[in-house]
Amino acid sequence: MCFRLIAITTVLAVVPLFIVQATLLMNIQEKLWSERADSIEQHSSFLAGQIINLNYFAGKNIDVINNLILQLDSIYEGRVIVVDENFTVRKDSYSRINKKTVITPSLVACMNGFPPEGFYDEVYDMVEKVVAITDSDGVIRGAIIINASTRDLTDTYHSIRRMSTYVSMGFAVILILVATLIGRAFTKPFKNVAKSINRISEGYFDEEVHLKGYAEIETISDAFNAMLNRLKSLEDSRQEFVSNVSHELKTPITSIKVLADSLNTQADVPVELYREFMQDIVEEIDRENTIINDLLALVKMDKKAGDLNITNVNINEMLELILKRLKPVAAKRNIELVLESFRTVMADCDEVKLTLAFTNLVENAIKYNIAGGWVQVSLDADHKFFYVKVSDSGIGIPEEYQDKIFDRFYRVDKARSRETGGTGLGLAITKNIVLMHDGAIRVKSKEDEGTTFTVRIPLTVST
Ligand code: ADP
Repeated sequence: MCFRLIAITTVLAVVPLFIVQATLLMNIQEKLWSERADSIEQHSSFLAGQIINLNYFAGKNIDVINNLILQLDSIYEGRVIVVDENFTVRKDSYSRINKKTVITPSLVACMNGFPPEGFYDEVYDMVEKVVAITDSDGVIRGAIIINASTRDLTDTYHSIRRMSTYVSMGFAVILILVATLIGRAFTKPFKNVAKSINRISEGYFDEEVHLKGYAEIETISDAFNAMLNRLKSLEDSRQEFVSNVSHELKTPITSIKVLADSLNTQADVPVELYREFMQDIVEEIDRENTIINDLLALVKMDKKAGDLNITNVNINEMLELILKRLKPVAAKRNIELVLESFRTVMADCDEVKLTLAFTNLVENAIKYNIAGGWVQVSLDADHKFFYVKVSDSGIGIPEEYQDKIFDRFYRVDKARSRETGGTGLGLAITKNIVLMHDGAIRVKSKEDEGTTFTVRIPLTVST
């Protein structure tokens, strides 16, 4: 990632830098050479004017014009050749081809009235220009061929190019350095997050990250720590759950072993004692069975709402059936069971699961009640939810335990719960079922007065 960032910055900043440099250099080169061409043209036009005015071709003022030609030669460190209309060289500043005839394509073109053309000779670093000598009637009377050295321009251009290359390279190095620093600073927090994630993958939930920098990074860091804390608490509750499960499952087995051992170690055990112990063993096995069944139910409920089997259910009928089933249990302790329905409620829900949830609540209301007490179940609804209240006249739950009763295996009074066959899983199962339905459950209770559980479930469950 860091490398990619540097590469992107380089491409986006350094490449345009060199493109700009190359364009600038090209412009400078063009400007230098065109200025030189203009100046040659101006000087040659002046010379051409003097040649006509002073009648050079008629053999007059030879020295004056020859002087001018030599001056031009020295200005441009080149060669100046003046040719008449017969292509005869009237003056060569090198004095090599005087009076000889020269014919070159550019000279012929110029004599035929084509505009002057420049030509650059890279090998000798010279420009050649042919300029027509025209009289006052516009007749071409000859031509001037100027070869001007451009070595000075080339030197200037090369030194400008060298300088600008140094500057551009300096800039490029600075840009790449800055990109590397920014890239490092940018990717470092991500590396730290990756390190922490790796630690979590290895099973350590201890490493919070504290990233400083730009706002987004701090948001990621906060979100990460929130996730970490959630994982930590999940891991804690998982470990607690596992140790609770082992403890709960071991208790009946330990009892069975004690009972069996005491039978085995005694000689001549009376049949009645055998029967009694065997009955106890059967009860412990039943208890183990109940715990395992509750655990299995809870594991099933841990899955998501997608596992709900939704049908349109008459909640009034559902509650009536629950109470009918539990009536004999309540009757044993002379507890009155009452159902109060304010209206008929039809809801889309999972009937089997909700029956289990409400059965747990009513069972608890009976279990943790006083002999001769009452349990009241009421049903009401508005346009969005239905509400089931299970109130009892029982022993109540002390304020400080009210938060905990929904935890798995939590029991306020272990002995009492065990006596009544409780596993401490009932309310955890109920709460899971309610949450699967996007519902809510609340408890209100006062010690020695009674308890009310209120469940709110949407009439239609979004799956
Ligand atoms: P259990 O199998 O022990 O009943 P639950 O999960 O159903 O487990 O309930 C957890 C604990 O909450 C119970 O052990 C009991 O202490 C308390 N509790 C639940 N319902 C009531 C109630 N209606 N009245 C008083 N205490 C209750």
